[in-house]
Amino acid sequence: MENLRDAVVDLVYLVCAVVIILGLKRLSSPRTARSGNQLVAAGLLVAVGVTLLDPHIHWRPANIAVMLIGTVVGAAGSIYLARVVPMTAMPQMVALFNGMGGATAALVAVAEFQRFVASGAVTAGERVSVAFGTTVGSVAFTGSVIAFLKLQELMTGRPVRFPLQIPLNVAVVAGIVAMWAWLLGFAGSSASVWIMFGLALLFGILLVLPVGGADMPVVISVLNSMTGLAAAAAGFVLENQILVVAGALVGASGSLLTILMSRAMNRSLANVLFGAYRTRAAGAAVAEAKPIRETTVEDTAVLLAYANLVIIVPGYGLAVAQAQHELAELANELEKRGVEVKFAIHPVAGRMPGHMNVLLAEANIPYDKLYEMEQINEEFQRADVALVVGANDVVNPAARTDPSSPLYGMPILNADQAKNVIVLKRSMRPGFAGVENELFHMPQTRMLFGDAKETLKRLVEAGKSV
Ligand code: NAP
Repeated sequence: MENLRDAVVDLVYLVCAVVIILGLKRLSSPRTARSGNQLVAAGLLVAVGVTLLDPHIHWRPANIAVMLIGTVVGAAGSIYLARVVPMTAMPQMVALFNGMGGATAALVAVAEFQRFVASGAVTAGERVSVAFGTTVGSVAFTGSVIAFLKLQELMTGRPVRFPLQIPLNVAVVAGIVAMWAWLLGFAGSSASVWIMFGLALLFGILLVLPVGGADMPVVISVLNSMTGLAAAAAGFVLENQILVVAGALVGASGSLLTILMSRAMNRSLANVLFGAYRTRAAGAAVAEAKPIRETTVEDTAVLLAYANLVIIVPGYGLAVAQAQHELAELANELEKRGVEVKFAIHPVAGRMPGHMNVLLAEANIPYDKLYEMEQINEEFQRADVALVVGANDVVNPAARTDPSSPLYGMPILNADQAKNVIVLKRSMRPGFAGVENELFHMPQTRMLFGDAKETLKRLVEAGKSV
């Protein structure tokens, strides 16, 4: 009977794994992403449900209470956060959830080691899984907490440096390596796992402290893949196949996302993680008093109405202003007048990959109007207007021309090649990278200051009387 239940659980796990993989595949297109998400959620729900049939579970009242409380608190907390947290704060929410995953994997590894020891000899495979899960899960936990604190502005977003930082890092890593050696080479004891746990928690903090806020989304992606790997290790410890599969998928997708983001920012991962050790922390650039030209809503409405091609460049500010619906309305009005309107999407516009796609999809802007950087960059030359809405770093020409700029080498949208550039933002404050933008001072550029939502609303109104 127990064997039959084992077989049924394994079979359902296999089906769930296939469903989750198919769901992930659907995330690759905005058209199918929503159903993909639902498919993955359904696969995970069934996997969690069927785990309760596992014949090895001890149905003691204390265990049932822990599972029930964990499920209710976890589900209620997630549903609440998913409703109240705005899209712009998604990276720190991912960091928080990710940290929970890392902590769970580490605690499972530590707790299971005590059980292995109590039940006799611990196999080499179990020791490797415990060491890996404890180290990687703990680093992911505290690293994610620091990433959360930085992004939520509960601590400084700048790289944190302090005396003897490098020797301290080396000492902590050496300590972790020694604990691995003790555990794997000399059968170790509970003390080795506990010390490893403590040192890895400390290393997570040390790893993320010197990373600047601008690089935090990349770091979160790295930590995310670490959590996945730690969960996979927990799967080996618990002999649970679905945990191994799900952990490996998270690990792989986190790694791919890290590579994509680093490539889009033209940075190596080593540069993101350890760049602060080579350079002095850059202060936010102090804008020199260079001339700018301001424009008005009325003049911009006329310019847009008589254009042949308008390329809209959305950025983080569009998400902050939640102005996607007003932007869609403006695009519609212009199209009614026969103006060709295209949206240029930079791969790291906003605060996470796909941020702009999700935002514009919310306002029902058709996908075929959204162009990736490589597809649209040539077209800026023939655009009458590049309308930059809350974007900054992704159109900063310093990325092409100024080797001293932190943005140097990042591929950018060629907004500066359009005949006219209109920039919607609230002030001359810099973008995420904290550097000044030469585009705002170019002769073809006009600044239209104000909150993007308000300005777009007024532009739609003004356009009606042109
Ligand atoms: P950005 O450089 O952060 O600039 C956003 C601009 O929006 C700011 O200059 C701000 O100027 C303006 N803004 C903010 N609120 C606004 C409002 N309510 N109305 C109008 N304007 C508003 O944004 P980006 O060009 O999208 O570049 C993204 C940055 O994030 C890049 O540096 C990228 O490397 C980094 N990053 C992104 C990812 C990702 O996956 N997407 C990952 C890692 C790093 P004011 O304050 O003057 O209004």
